[in-house]
Amino acid sequence: MATMIRRTTCSLFLFLSIACFCSAQNAPIALTGTVLTPSGVVENGTVLFQNGKIVAVGEKISLPANTRTIDTHGILVPGFIDLHNHLTWNVFPRWKPMEEFGSRYDWQQKSIYKVLMDGPHHQLVAEGYECDMERYAEVKAVSEGETSVVGGTHQDCGPRLARNLDFDPRLGGAPSAPVVYNVFPFQMSEEELASARGALDHGGALLIHVAEGAPNDASAAREFAMLKGRGLLRKGVSVIHGVALKPDDLREMAIAETGLIWSPRSNLELYGGTANVAAAKAAGVEMAIAPDWSPTGSDGTLAELNFAATWNAGQTPPVFTDRELVEMATRNAARLAGMEHTLGSLAPGYAADILVLRPHQQPAGKDAYWSAVHSDARDVALVTIGGEVIYGDGSVISEFKTAPAMDHATVCGTVKELSFRAGSEKRETFESVETRLDRALSEWSRHLAPLAECSQ
Ligand SMILES: [Zn+2]
Repeated sequence: MATMIRRTTCSLFLFLSIACFCSAQNAPIALTGTVLTPSGVVENGTVLFQNGKIVAVGEKISLPANTRTIDTHGILVPGFIDLHNHLTWNVFPRWKPMEEFGSRYDWQQKSIYKVLMDGPHHQLVAEGYECDMERYAEVKAVSEGETSVVGGTHQDCGPRLARNLDFDPRLGGAPSAPVVYNVFPFQMSEEELASARGALDHGGALLIHVAEGAPNDASAAREFAMLKGRGLLRKGVSVIHGVALKPDDLREMAIAETGLIWSPRSNLELYGGTANVAAAKAAGVEMAIAPDWSPTGSDGTLAELNFAATWNAGQTPPVFTDRELVEMATRNAARLAGMEHTLGSLAPGYAADILVLRPHQQPAGKDAYWSAVHSDARDVALVTIGGEVIYGDGSVISEFKTAPAMDHATVCGTVKELSFRAGSEKRETFESVETRLDRALSEWSRHLAPLAECSQ
């Protein structure tokens, strides 16, 4: 999908602060469980972290005397890195257009889209709800196991809940690398182009929507020619969508070390097809996976992984292993963002961005990677960002002792704890934000989307 970049003031939330990033956490913490490391599954493993960074990972590691050890009884996964989203739109419930489109330029012109989506979105932003919308979307993201996002539109909403890689990647201690996010390549100005090239020249990344449409759509395919014409077929650039790309295009991308960010659910719902990821894999294109937006994509990365796993199982032969799917949301995404040395892996020196899953199902013979791509939002037991407790089950969070007072969010009927607090005198709870957004949306006969769709 696409969104307009808007800048509005958000004075109502100048006092918002997120308590989790205000507290230093000096004592080492050891989380035990089944650990997904860069070299594979470590059963009965431990992740030791301190001061925001992972110190050691393994089956038998020595722990400092003052370590607090927490047995998670779960699967420890690197926090998901979402390189394709449009945060403010995730307040909307699913949009079911009941037809397939040629390209995004088609559905953006439809009256039904303007009535149900663009009109209310524009008005909510104009009325000053943009920061509320972004905060709601960030809670949605962490409830789906995400620790890093892109695609916000407002830089001045105060402290963030998740890492916003395109705004403030240093949040929680990770070093910064410029990440430029572009939605409309045809409209890219010379100034924007120069900014993107500057980022790329300094080891940053450009994540750019290209070839979003049906596999044979001409306008979608033309965007790839534009990308090449502007000298952007190069390392550090990642194509978002790429549905209309041909195998020859994908081979060119592999040679240039240009990445691909795959969003299968939104592609299939809007266009009836998705990127030729089998050809991309055969060509050697580095790929990440991300949810796009929740109205036609997924509520977050965990749900998108579920969708991808189901899609994958229907291919003959399957394109990806479960491990490859998990890595597309973690290590690969970190590489495409230029942050492969700080984010996306449970390994010493990396930021302590950790997701703990307690899967509701784990059939015999299936490994932890299978469980990770078949878990849902109810199974998210803990999310830490830079070692700080952000979200999870109260039973796990209470083990930390140093965790701040937590707010609450309800996901699929399950109450989760959430580090979402308004600051000083103007105390805002997550529930108050939900209530305000739902009231605003109800003026358009719409209602606030749930944090996650739930399988029954
Ligand atoms: Zn998009």
